[in-house]
This record gives sequence, structure tokens and C-alpha cells, in this order.
Amino acid sequence: MAGQARAAVAVSGAHHSSWNREVRPLAEGSGTVRALAKWDGAIEYRDDVTRTLREMFEKAGRGSAASELEQYRDALGVVLHENVHLLAARGTSHGMGSEAFREGAVSALEEGVTEAYKRIALDVYIDELGLERIAPGLKSVRADRSYPQYVPAAEVFAAAVGRRVDLAGNEVLRRLAVVNCEDKFRVAAELVYQASELPDLVPQQHRAVAIDRIVTGMKEPFAKIADFDPDDPLDIRMSPLAGAQADRAGYQQVRELTAFWQANQDLRKTLDIGLDRGARGPSAANSRNTNQATGRGANGRLARGDQSHCRPIERD
Ligand SMILES: [Zn+2]
Repeated sequence: MAGQARAAVAVSGAHHSSWNREVRPLAEGSGTVRALAKWDGAIEYRDDVTRTLREMFEKAGRGSAASELEQYRDALGVVLHENVHLLAARGTSHGMGSEAFREGAVSALEEGVTEAYKRIALDVYIDELGLERIAPGLKSVRADRSYPQYVPAAEVFAAAVGRRVDLAGNEVLRRLAVVNCEDKFRVAAELVYQASELPDLVPQQHRAVAIDRIVTGMKEPFAKIADFDPDDPLDIRMSPLAGAQADRAGYQQVRELTAFWQANQDLRKTLDIGLDRGARGPSAANSRNTNQATGRGANGRLARGDQSHCRPIERD
């Protein structure tokens, strides 16, 4: 399985994988955990996952029963899931998210997106690794049983954000999957920010704070599902609701920010007109306004009044 990380990068279009080329057996006593993408970039697989895949290769090319194919697909899904965790954007790594992952909302979105994206991408991953030849029928079975308490939330969240920004939900999931856990909410928040009026209203130096506010709105519903139980049918039924709420809460912040910066801009215009009137009389106010977009006077140079709104008004 040397190509496991390369194939995950190829399928997802990620910048790189943080895999450090180490595969280790998962320590005994890890409960229901079947694999781990360690913060140092190693992957640990539980014995049954490795054994199932070894068996698949040993029986290469020979037909398998549907129940066996399901087991192979399930084990392969674990491999892709861990490799999706390791995907990272340029200048970042999987390990950089270790602190952020302690936050319930972050880990819930991380696992939800990683597993949801695994479900979307597994057939392409199988093709990329040429595994349908090894186990014919591998793409005709389904085996998706991990994180049922987070996957619906992630899917609904991605679809709802996608509708706002004119992207397919699967594409939103892909964009979240290729960045580490610390960046996932920010990528979603930046999508809705960019598709709103905010880029025209918010001064560049306030952009990051505005996006942080959208992130905070989106996180709350995911924080509430962090301790959901994968074996509780009620929790599983409530999961999609959290995704819808996260989208709405994020957008509520967009609305509030738009109202704030709109009012701020109106105030600035009023102040500008008032200051110009004071300095140059009523007719100057109109010409100042016309040139507001460029911030320059009629002759293309900075006019005397142009900087007045950038500085505190001093009285002497
Ligand atoms: Zn995981």
C-alpha cells in the first residue's frame, strides 16, 4: 500500500499529504478505533484492517463473495479516511491542527468531513490504485459505517454553504477535506464571506476578524454534537440539523457584519460630505463624492480633504 498517500493527493487535488512514510500497528486497547493518523504523520492500523487487506491481495483476481468484498471495501475505506486526515494545504501540515483538534466543534467537523469525503472519493481512489482488478466488484458494494453521528452534519453543512456560494456540496466537502482540521471552518467561512457583499464593505485590515466571527457562528452547532453517540439513533437523527444550523448561524454573522459595515460606510459618506462642505462649501462635496472610489481628487492626485476620514478628528 505504498501508494496510499499519493493516490489520496491525486484524487482530492490536495497540495500534499503529511504522511511521513511510516505505517505502524495500532496499540492494543484502543477500543473501537481501527486506525489513527498520528500528529507526526504516521498511520497506525489495527490488526484486522491490515489482515483484511493482506487477504484481498492474496486472493488477487479471484472472485469474492459480496460479504468479503464489503469487508475489503470497509478496510480500504479506513485507509482512505486516514489518508484524507493527512491532506494539507501549502505551508501547513496535519500536525499543525493538533491543538485545534481538542475543541469539540473542530474534531466533529474534521471527522464528519473526512468520512463524508471518503464516501464520495472511495470509488475514484480504488481506480487510482487499480484495486478493482485485484478484487473485482469492489466498487459495486457499500460499506460506510464510521462516524454516523457527524457525517450527516458535515454533508448538510457543505450542501447549505454550497447553495449560498454556487458550488456543489461535494465540492465544498472536497475543499474542506484538503485542509487540516484547524482550517476547515475558516475555509467554509471564507467561501460565504467572498460570495457576500462583505469584500466591498470591509476594510482589508478588518477582514480576518470578520471571518473569525463567521467561524464562531458556524462552530456552535458542531460543538453541541461533539459528544453525540454513534450508537444512539436519536443522535444520528439530530446530526443533519446541526449542519443546517451551522450554515444559518454563519450566515447570520454575515448579515450582521453587512449591516454594521454598511452603516459605517454611510456614516463615512456623511462625514466626508460634512467635512468637505465645511472646508470648501456645498459644491465641493459633490465632486469629492464622485471621486470616492479611487480616493483621489479630480486631477488624479490626492486632494486636500481626501485623507480626513482616515485620521481622528482633532480639535485645537
Ligand atoms: Zn478520523
